Amino acid sequence: MAGYHSPQLDVRVRLNTNESPYPPPPGWLEDLGAALAGIDFHRYPDREAGALRGALGALHQVGPESIFCGNGSNEVIECLLLAYGGPGRVAATFEPTYALHSHITRLTSTGLVQGQRSDDYSLDLKEVLGILEQHRPDVTFMCSPNNPTGGEDSPEVTTAVLEGTSGLVAVDEAYGQFASWSALSLIKEYSNLGVIRTFSKTWAMAGLRIGYLVADPDIIAATEKVALPYRLDVLKQQAGLLALKYHSDMEKRAATLKQARDQLYEALRAMDLDVWPSGANFILFRPRFVPAASIWQGLVDRSVLVRDCSSWPRLTGCLRVSVGTSDENAAFLAALEETLN
Ligand SMILES: *Cc1c(COP(=O)(O)O)cnc(C)c1O
Repeated sequence: MAGYHSPQLDVRVRLNTNESPYPPPPGWLEDLGAALAGIDFHRYPDREAGALRGALGALHQVGPESIFCGNGSNEVIECLLLAYGGPGRVAATFEPTYALHSHITRLTSTGLVQGQRSDDYSLDLKEVLGILEQHRPDVTFMCSPNNPTGGEDSPEVTTAVLEGTSGLVAVDEAYGQFASWSALSLIKEYSNLGVIRTFSKTWAMAGLRIGYLVADPDIIAATEKVALPYRLDVLKQQAGLLALKYHSDMEKRAATLKQARDQLYEALRAMDLDVWPSGANFILFRPRFVPAASIWQGLVDRSVLVRDCSSWPRLTGCLRVSVGTSDENAAFLAALEETLN
């Protein structure tokens, strides 16, 4: 099998991996610097990550027993599949979606059932419920907003999926803060729901590697059983905890990026492109008259990197651009205009 790849190039404008275009707040860095001297590096970290889980729980109005933390949400997904997947069990995805869901399913020897999204990439409830009934998956992945297509699943669709399975429904909300609603609002109602979030996107800390799961305490306890002890180092726990002090800064950034996304969407719609509505910090688009590969290369020649999805199944001819700073978005639009003409 092939590993996971996300090609990087040395360019001026990097709009290919949906990171925050802004670094974390300077105050956070100062706090972290000041906290360093007090860290007991010679001791193992708090195995329970109690302070971080408590603070994340407070953010989402649940107790620490409803929070599981990992080294990025990818590790959260891996632990969920170690706990609920494995040989003889099945996980379902609805394609096209985030490649790591099916990739980690295979890595954990979990059976994989891939349903298909509709032509506009929204979830087709008939297809989804059919798969749930036929294959009775132990884990069903949803992704809202969906990467790489950008659309959100409505509360109605999400509850229909939750009620259509007795298995676990893992809703990946890596882009949740950019969306119009969150499945976190259903956590107390559905004991088979797990919502996955990350510090990598809105929190502007992709380099820190923190992701977490919000779910019923029984799901958290099962996931803790398979996770390696002491996997969250002292520095990460401290850094994550301090970051939560800056929650309102982060919400402001998310609002700025949402506005920039909507402007970018309008600008793209005015060009010879098919463009998909997005609830995230990226936009999927497809050049109508020029091959995607030559557009991608034309952008690289102008020092702008976007994600080339054009060879992915059901995404023929598509490219995905992350929302950057206003200068980066302007540079991207100018370069795109040139390559399209
Ligand atoms: C970027 C992304 C993640 C983030 O993974 P981390 O391991 O937390 O960096 C998770 N899910 C989706 C759908 C993503 O696009």
